[in-house]
Amino acid sequence: MIQITMPLNFLGTVYREIRQALVDMGEMFDLLEQPLDVSDKPGATALRVTRGEVSLDEIRFGYDPDRQILKGVSLAVGAGETLALVGPTGSGKSTIGRLLFRFYDVSGGAIRIDGQDIRDVTQDSLHAAIGVVPQDTVLFNDTIRYNIAYGREGATQHDIEEAARAAQIHDFIAGLPQGYDTQVGERGLKLSGGEKQRVGIARTLLKDPPILLLDEATSALDSETEAEIQEALRRAGQGRTVITIAHRLSTIADADRIVVLQDGEVVEEGTHDGLLGRGGRYAALWTRQQAEAVAA
Ligand code: ADP
Repeated sequence: MIQITMPLNFLGTVYREIRQALVDMGEMFDLLEQPLDVSDKPGATALRVTRGEVSLDEIRFGYDPDRQILKGVSLAVGAGETLALVGPTGSGKSTIGRLLFRFYDVSGGAIRIDGQDIRDVTQDSLHAAIGVVPQDTVLFNDTIRYNIAYGREGATQHDIEEAARAAQIHDFIAGLPQGYDTQVGERGLKLSGGEKQRVGIARTLLKDPPILLLDEATSALDSETEAEIQEALRRAGQGRTVITIAHRLSTIADADRIVVLQDGEVVEEGTHDGLLGRGGRYAALWTRQQAEAVAA
């Protein structure tokens, strides 16, 4: 009996790990389109997150050696601070997210978390420290409970509901005839984009990472959903360091700090009001998006 169950248990573990890896990859498809092409350094140690400070020190990077995408970007995100990255399409915002997750290594400079160069730590420990809320959350053809619980092995119903509450999706789930046992995904209940995103936020909250990387949806949701998502993200960010990749400006006005990227360089940095007052790039982007919103 033991001889049979042990290998099966072992296979089960391996299967779960592979599936987890595949789903994590699939989930981050928008943010992280490429497969990992870096590996752990010999003797790499686990990342020790003490405060959750993230710093980018003069980082340089190009997908192709002859085309620099990031041209010496420096920024620091303090413990518990919310930093929003904004800038025109193609300015390098998502690339910074990919580098923080170490899907690629920088070609110059360094990214550090609590003073540790992310190239010196194990990728498992790095990925455990960073929760990603992607633009599109992938759902399994399973129950809502399973889809949220996926964030942490061994999560109890209480943990799951707490995460769902914080993600502003509990009331919706509780109102379904089968509640948390409702089947979702292709063969079950189809959730709207906003509902899926909140399930994704609940999943990430359950994982309870000290650092959050949010890749905001490019397209506008209806204003009620938008407000719910914003509230869910605000709660998710409490007590964590948050980096938001903002494709629209309307959602980040209350970030502690806004960094404006253009052609792979930081061109402005400040608060929403401060940057508007300066009348520079951010103010121009803001005016343009306001005009587009009115025209839409
Ligand atoms: P943003 O998120 O600000 O819109 P990105 O970081 O996605 O910008 O892209 C920055 C630049 O890098 C763009 O010119 C884009 O075409 C290029 N780029 C992004 N992903 C890849 C890739 N996988 N391979 C080659 N070039 C890429």
